[in-house]
Amino acid sequence: MDLRLHNTLTREKQVFSPQNPQRVTMYVCGPTVYSYAHIGNARPPVAFDVLFRLLRAKYGESHVLYASNITDVDDKIIAAAAETGRPVGEITALYERIYNEDLAALGVIEPNLRPHATEHIGGMIEIIQTLVDKGHAYPAKDGVLFDVPSMADYGKLSGRNRDDMIAGARVEVDAGKKDPADFALWKAAKPSEPKEARWDSPWGEGRPGWHIECSAMAKAVLGETIDIHAGGLDLIFPHHENEIAQSECAHGKPMANYWLHNGFLSMDSEKMSKSLGNVKLINDLLKHYDGETMRFALMSAHYRQPLDWTEALLNQSKATLDRLYNALRRMDVEADDVDAPKGVMAALCDDLNTPLALAELSALATEANKAEAPEWPKLKGRMLAAGRLLGLLQQDPEAYARGDAGDAKRIDALVQQRIDARKAKDFAAADQIRKALADEGIEIMDGPQGSTWRRV
Ligand SMILES: [Zn+2]
Repeated sequence: MDLRLHNTLTREKQVFSPQNPQRVTMYVCGPTVYSYAHIGNARPPVAFDVLFRLLRAKYGESHVLYASNITDVDDKIIAAAAETGRPVGEITALYERIYNEDLAALGVIEPNLRPHATEHIGGMIEIIQTLVDKGHAYPAKDGVLFDVPSMADYGKLSGRNRDDMIAGARVEVDAGKKDPADFALWKAAKPSEPKEARWDSPWGEGRPGWHIECSAMAKAVLGETIDIHAGGLDLIFPHHENEIAQSECAHGKPMANYWLHNGFLSMDSEKMSKSLGNVKLINDLLKHYDGETMRFALMSAHYRQPLDWTEALLNQSKATLDRLYNALRRMDVEADDVDAPKGVMAALCDDLNTPLALAELSALATEANKAEAPEWPKLKGRMLAAGRLLGLLQQDPEAYARGDAGDAKRIDALVQQRIDARKAKDFAAADQIRKALADEGIEIMDGPQGSTWRRV
């Protein structure tokens, strides 16, 4: 089955054909770690986690190399360090850990490679030197600038006109720009900036610009031309445009063959912004919703389409997941080991059509709910295989059902009290607990391994 992906560079859906099917490479721009990530930040890692899973299913787990970086040097990090009086390294380590925990709760598989910008400064300096040598960059008063007019096809990814480009070019390094669209490759250190955020270079002490970080990290860990480069829509310009400029002018070959971009996330039909006070952090949402429910909600829209985040969406996602898990619970048998169903595979191979894949999964549950026992192993196997591909349904259905009671800890404690009462031969107390739980619809099951419980 062909995999078709929408390529921002060619503006069309294309059949995906890797350079080497034994080594399929993908790079997704990662976070700048200076604070908590919001739910909009979760869209690219979840969308491209689905792609990672699909590529592994198609080419084999050991044949896909997925890298996603951590930007651990940046103006915002330096500002956060200055504000809090804490060392840069402490801030970046803390927020990187929280970011990874947030993504794990959303069922995101760890990328194979997690390069950190600060580990690749040498590689960045090397590319900048090559660009200077080739006449694509020049030292200026506040660092080194990329010479935009030196690249004939600059702007090919975004298709922006020149006025937009100028407006979009960051102006931190302004002094000595030859062209208003030129952008910073290296930023000279300011006296107030901490030692741990400055490095020696042929152009004096300083730090890299944001765009050159990804050019250097992608090259170092995946190679000069990668198969897929992905990120949010907001990165097309200037970030990805500038990555292309740097990498292609330095290496003389395409940086990536397929460029994928996910759409925006809005909050109750409004743009999520600090000024509106409607920014929702992944970490906070996880206190109220199961990570799997949030993942389901993120996958409910096609990755290229806008996604409106609402309480209704979360409630609906949870109701659908409940139904899927209930279908699995009903089939109280060992599942067959089968491939993911064709319908789910076909939906994902059509530019990652997750809404259709989820509809296919729901149809499977409907079929399973009507099926007789002899069909259960096959149907359960198909549901679980589809779930693996989508990063869903991997919890034990019984555990999921217990979580459904909303207060699993309290129930666990009551079950333990009953065990203790029985050990103390206080059978009246033990029976009382059993009856109280039964009234809530909770059944205790005693077995050789001890007592478990479930909602009936
Ligand atoms: Zn990047």
